[in-house]
Amino acid sequence: MKLYNSLSKKVEPFIPNVEGRVSMYTCGPTVYHFAHIGNLRSYIAEDVLEKALRYEGYDVKRVMNITDVGHLSSDADTGEDKMLKGAKREHKTVMEIAEFYTKAFFEDMKRLNIKMPDVVEPATHCIPEFIHMIEVLLEKGYAYRAGENVYFDTSKLDNYFVFGSQNEEEQLVGVRDDVTEDSNKRNKNDFVLWFTKSKFEDQALKWDSPWGTGYPGWHIECSCISMKHLGDSMDIHCGGVDNMFPHHTNEIAQSEAYLGHKWCNYWFHVHHLNDRNGKMSKSKGDILTVSKLIEKGYDPLVYRLFCLQSHYRKPLEFSFDQMDNTAVAYEKLKKRVMDNVRKAGNEPADEAAVSEYRNRFIEALDNDVNTAMGLTVLYDALKAPLNAATKAAIAKSFDEVLGLDLTVEKEAPEEKTDADPELVSYVEEMIERRKAAKKEKNFEEADRIRNELLGKGIVLKDTREGTLWEKQG
Ligand code: AMP
Ligand code: ZN
Repeated sequence: MKLYNSLSKKVEPFIPNVEGRVSMYTCGPTVYHFAHIGNLRSYIAEDVLEKALRYEGYDVKRVMNITDVGHLSSDADTGEDKMLKGAKREHKTVMEIAEFYTKAFFEDMKRLNIKMPDVVEPATHCIPEFIHMIEVLLEKGYAYRAGENVYFDTSKLDNYFVFGSQNEEEQLVGVRDDVTEDSNKRNKNDFVLWFTKSKFEDQALKWDSPWGTGYPGWHIECSCISMKHLGDSMDIHCGGVDNMFPHHTNEIAQSEAYLGHKWCNYWFHVHHLNDRNGKMSKSKGDILTVSKLIEKGYDPLVYRLFCLQSHYRKPLEFSFDQMDNTAVAYEKLKKRVMDNVRKAGNEPADEAAVSEYRNRFIEALDNDVNTAMGLTVLYDALKAPLNAATKAAIAKSFDEVLGLDLTVEKEAPEEKTDADPELVSYVEEMIERRKAAKKEKNFEEADRIRNELLGKGIVLKDTREGTLWEKQG
């Protein structure tokens, strides 16, 4: 496997610390709102990376945090506390908000076939670990107390900007919300390890610490939670590209200052999903969620395919036109695969061909997780002169990574198992034509098709999962 590493800014061969094993960490969501589909682009890409590694035989352990405390509206420790903002908005407690949006996030993961990481740990479960790390950083002289808070002193490091020049980093900070100076900081880039209650009088979550009652800064949680479950060194750390600075830069600063050695070898950053107005962000208010996609009639896996069609290291622009095209592509792809699954019967698969295509698929994944290339290999296999069982076996195998449910029957099959196959294909064709007519806003034609089917006793039902049908009488 070759992976782009944001530290070296190069595509490098991936060599884990322990042969055959991969330790992987993912920055989890801040649970003050629903995850938007931009956030989920990052989680889809990270899921594919994990599944690609497993597909190639690695034993992967993946850990993710849930940010339920400490994340302020600017990542540079200024502005309102995000959790508190969510609680006020909904007249609930911070913990109620955290629980609700954590569940909603898990539900979105399920709908998008994102595997649950092996460990998922909320930040509020690890306060003693945070306090311990901060104590060590103070002892080692990397941290200082000022204005009742504890700060990390970035001037103590030879190379704080590990991901690039300060100018580049500042450009990234520029896209963030308000950034105002904190006069307690000795250096502009110093960051908070522990806030005391002086920061927010109405802070709901606070804990005793050697520095007074307060709560942790945002960055400390990922260092501690990853070390708690993955030890003092890890292979891959993931996140969206906006996390590079200051979040991941600060994670590296405090982790390596604490450990006294290199911490994580590969940094995997997913580029943003943008809409016409720029980066999709929770703070912009009206966000596009998986539930909204479902309400508009899309299968969530259409969005997964939409993401897989482009490379994770390129910005991706979202539009409903593109989603419509992807929905058609998804239906066609799934139909082709399912036709082969149904046709395969007891026919044996050509194992040599399966393994040849598997190798080509692995080659695409090895090329910095090139999912678009992986999909091309699948289309090539479906076009190739292979029997149905071989094609079905190839699709099933690739789907372990693609996660598109290509060989899973979604609609209730019992309704149609005894239906005449000719009738099934006729109705499906009419549904397609009706969909195309609707897309072209030709509602007259769409109604005509519905009535033609009705005349034959076929009733159409438009649902969130698409158009379903049943034969009456
Ligand atoms: P948050 O819940 O804000 O902490 O973000 C969760 C994850 O989504 C992080 O890895 C972010 O870097 C990532 N992220 C945020 N906005 C976007 C976006 N528009 N496109 C892709 N990933 C994003
Ligand atoms: Zn993190």
